[in-house]
Amino acid sequence: MARYSDPVCRLCRREGMKLFLKGDRCFKDKCSIERRNYAPGQHGRRRSKVLGYGLQLREKQKVKRIYGLLESQFRLYFQRAERKTGITGENLLRQLELRLDNVVYSLGFAASRPQARQLVRHGHIEVNGKKINIPSYQARKGDVIQVREKSRKNDQIRQAVETAAGRGVPSWLELNAEQFRGTVTDVPKREDIRLPIQEQLIVELYSK
Ligand code: SF4
Repeated sequence: MARYSDPVCRLCRREGMKLFLKGDRCFKDKCSIERRNYAPGQHGRRRSKVLGYGLQLREKQKVKRIYGLLESQFRLYFQRAERKTGITGENLLRQLELRLDNVVYSLGFAASRPQARQLVRHGHIEVNGKKINIPSYQARKGDVIQVREKSRKNDQIRQAVETAAGRGVPSWLELNAEQFRGTVTDVPKREDIRLPIQEQLIVELYSK
């Protein structure tokens, strides 16, 4: 599976906002957005006004980057969202929120979504008592997601759980931090997704 392997802080600088791709560093002064909040590259300081197609494109890129998806994967999510009943943009965000790597991050078992993806890939996560190593696994209402018994001593995971303690979890998840376990109690509603996303712009972009 292809993946983005260049410096990730460039992605935040391109979008002009923190995408929280590096865990702890994102909350410190070292964050590139704190130090150089302009687009990367030779002409990065020249901010021109983004309108129309440019706005739609930036919104799509932002969402792709937040969830760590490539274009082809993202398009598949969009096509599935279109086929479902309801509002396409909301269907799209709901699917992305229910990805296993995002749920692991939201429960605080990882410091960032990329780290959550790695935990899933490396087999540290169980869903309903069964090891699942597919980051795109779609969690469902009632699923119990937990760190595997033998992985609970992992320093990275313990540190993430401690750091995330004050962050809280979304209302559609229930966390038992002592047991390294979380439950999907509901499907996320639009108002539960607090990311600054205008999904309608993405729908308009793909509807051209
Ligand atoms: Fe983005 Fe985090 Fe890098 Fe800051 S430190 S630019 S929020 S990835």
